[in-house]
Amino acid sequence: MIPQFRPALGVAELVAALRPAKPDDVARFETAFAAAVGQRHALAFPYGRTALLALLEALNLKGRAIVCPAYTCVVVPHAIVLGGNTPRFIDAGPDANMDLTAAERAIGADTGALIATSIFGNPVDLDHLDAIARSSSGTIIIQDCAHSFTATWNGRRVNEAGRAAIFGLNASKTMTSIFGGMVTTDDPQLAAALAATRTRLITPATLWKSVARTLYLLALYPAFWPPLYGLTERLRKAGLLNRFTRYYDESVIDMPRDYRSAMTPVEARVGTVQAGSLNAFIAARREFAEYYRHALSHLPALSWITGADSSSYSHIAARVADRSHVMRAAATRGVQLGEVIEYSIPEMAAYLRWGTAQGPFPVAQTLSRQTINLPLSGHFGPRAAARAVAILKDILADQPAPPALPAAGS
Ligand SMILES: *Cc1c(COP(=O)(O)O)cnc(C)c1O
Repeated sequence: MIPQFRPALGVAELVAALRPAKPDDVARFETAFAAAVGQRHALAFPYGRTALLALLEALNLKGRAIVCPAYTCVVVPHAIVLGGNTPRFIDAGPDANMDLTAAERAIGADTGALIATSIFGNPVDLDHLDAIARSSSGTIIIQDCAHSFTATWNGRRVNEAGRAAIFGLNASKTMTSIFGGMVTTDDPQLAAALAATRTRLITPATLWKSVARTLYLLALYPAFWPPLYGLTERLRKAGLLNRFTRYYDESVIDMPRDYRSAMTPVEARVGTVQAGSLNAFIAARREFAEYYRHALSHLPALSWITGADSSSYSHIAARVADRSHVMRAAATRGVQLGEVIEYSIPEMAAYLRWGTAQGPFPVAQTLSRQTINLPLSGHFGPRAAARAVAILKDILADQPAPPALPAAGS
């Protein structure tokens, strides 16, 4: 089976993981990561959501409203709420990114920050964001770059366009440190404040956590190997992998049990190797995106969300009219499609108390029901892509075009 994603883990990562730990493993990863994304400071955290939680605290924003997308990963508002802030959800636009006109309108005296997110790697409009920053100087711009490692807008890297950026580094991301997250910033004062917050918030990683993370890494190699991936999927569907793959519960705002336990040295060593390949990973994804879009461009059944050539292509996304049919038909033929963000956050049970008053969110809702992600990895060969394309052409040939997106809500 061709998986919807495959971590680009090779022999070098394995060798690095099995080397004995050194006290400066995490610091070396931070240096390598900062260099890879072109920023002065990088601070490592156990998860991207912990990175955001610590960043909000270091910025001294407690109690303030945080403007954020309705269509993003649910761990983002989890960090906002658990950090003592209020989420202010904004509907998506046609590129799946937060509608910046609506975001600008939503900024008020109580707003502390705006989290701009380049969903699927589609770069957020930095010119519009600059205008917002000028007109609401009290609002701090945070870039969520978990999907957009070094995506650019008119030549500017999105991660550099704000006070700080956060990154997620789990095995489904463009590069991985097994788990893990980062904050990057060019502001030395913020870096120092964040380091102090981290010392207060985060406990040292235990040896047991390092062992568990090493075992998890070792399991990723066979789990994503295409001949075995069908088995992985059967185990997942039977609920046996929930501990590793289920990352949210509709009705609960929570964090993983170990969200305050530091990134382990083994994760940092794997991350250091991956950071050195980041540009190659993105180049491979770009080639894939071009190939897919070229080979499937004539199909009315696909309405592309993936657009800009300067995207970093964390995902290749398109809308289809009947997602469950398309996903099932593809799976039967050995191609797994993703539905990475299958929810509109303010319409989830746990967020209704904010969402009901702030809505409606017609675009986020439509995207959450119609979006598919094509198989993509820094690690697929052209053969896998060609097979996926042939099967998708077949399945999509008789599918209708999805209806046009509604206008953005709030
Ligand atoms: C993955 C992701 C994060 C961070 O996720 P963690 O699992 O906490 O590392 C943040 N934002 C978006 C959009 C993501 O996809």
